[in-house]
Amino acid sequence: MGKRKKSTRKPGAPARQKVPLDTAFTCLFCHHDKSVTVRLDRKEGVAQLVCRVCDQRYQSKVNHLTEPIDIYSEWIDAADAAQKEEQTVKRHTTSSHRAVPVPASVDSDEE
Ligand SMILES: [Zn+2]
Repeated sequence: MGKRKKSTRKPGAPARQKVPLDTAFTCLFCHHDKSVTVRLDRKEGVAQLVCRVCDQRYQSKVNHLTEPIDIYSEWIDAADAAQKEEQTVKRHTTSSHRAVPVPASVDSDEE
């Protein structure tokens, strides 16, 4: 007690601030908590989902009723479907390599 808290962030702000339509979810792929951001652009009618950790992306259409969670579950469905499709394809094409998108990381083999 008596200790002053550093920067008490209370500029007498109103409780309700206008929050941007940004919502964070857990990533399906890298499993980071709140790394997936859904941004709804209702004017454009599009939603952008992106994971800031593993850079997974998903885009979908929105209407005035669409919520970020809808895009998120859509993404889950899409990822699920894609996975199933991949498995199906794999059974047919046994010779091909898996087309895994390699992150363009900086090659640091000279050290
Ligand atoms: Zn991720």
